[in-house]
Amino acid sequence: MNLARFPRIRLGHMPTPLEPMDNLSKHLGGPRLWIKRDDATGLATGGNKTRKLEYLMAEALQQGADIVITQGATQSNHARQTAAAAAKLGLGCHILLEDRTGNTETAYTQGGNVLLDLLHGAEISRFAGGTDMAAAMEARAAELKNAGRKPYIIPGGGSNPVGALGYVNAALELVNQASEMGLRIDRVVHATGSAGTQAGLVAGLVGLNSGIPVLGIGVRAPRPQQEANVLGLAQRTAAHLGLPEGTVRAEHVVANCDYVGQGYGIPTEGMVEAIKLLAEKEGILLDPVYSGKGMAGLIDLIRKGQFGPDENIVFIHTGGAVGLFAYPDIFGAN
Ligand SMILES: *Cc1c(COP(=O)(O)O)cnc(C)c1O
Repeated sequence: MNLARFPRIRLGHMPTPLEPMDNLSKHLGGPRLWIKRDDATGLATGGNKTRKLEYLMAEALQQGADIVITQGATQSNHARQTAAAAAKLGLGCHILLEDRTGNTETAYTQGGNVLLDLLHGAEISRFAGGTDMAAAMEARAAELKNAGRKPYIIPGGGSNPVGALGYVNAALELVNQASEMGLRIDRVVHATGSAGTQAGLVAGLVGLNSGIPVLGIGVRAPRPQQEANVLGLAQRTAAHLGLPEGTVRAEHVVANCDYVGQGYGIPTEGMVEAIKLLAEKEGILLDPVYSGKGMAGLIDLIRKGQFGPDENIVFIHTGGAVGLFAYPDIFGAN
């Protein structure tokens, strides 16, 4: 795999640390838990979208764009990182936010990520839940073109074969780190949503013949749909990389969607417990929408005895802690 032939702009602090979580491992009674700190990518409090934006923004500049358009849920971490990247590169940024949760609290509609979107100078417009957001982005792009601008559309979550290259790069980084540390990784676990993170990791780890399986914990779609989304994007990413057809197969894609609860962005008991546990045992902040539910899944599977005591499990912390401030009530604060 020759990633260097794809245009990339450095936006993040990489490599991100790969650290043991000894207190949590002890608390749960094994396996050996590790955390890959992609919450520490740096840009506007960090997160997984920064890796994708390194490739997406490079393509936008290559195409001569002067404004980027993207979309996400109200508390989108992707929107916030895109707004910051656009600010750094001197591009305009228009963000389309979809009300996916129906949460009308001011903290949710104005705080957390929304506060940072605005601080980075992005223009925001809001849409009802269920809107065809891809079509809304196209319509916005057409308006901007008519006004003489050069828009570049970034799909929700930055999840297309260009953005997924960021997680192919993360797979390379992780395998190199593990080999330097003499660490045998038995499984990688992370929260999966728009699928680009898992697709890039799978394409990268399979393309490298690493033998490391990936377990996605879903936060929105049911399992068949999530696995189909990840597999389709992983295969398109592999093709973009020039890997032989048939390299990425259905058996490489596993998404456990048992921890979504009532829906995307809606709190669950497991998520609240996971966030408290990581905060209290490891001094690490997870987020309520993605990494909290991802960790809730991992904790539950550990309790169900799904992993051997000597296995090394790497949880990828995909960021999002800014979203905690959009949910001030769920931790029993007063
Ligand atoms: C977007 C996001 C994810 C999910 O990544 P996808 O590539 O969309 O599947 C996980 N965690 C956080 C904090 C995110 O913002």
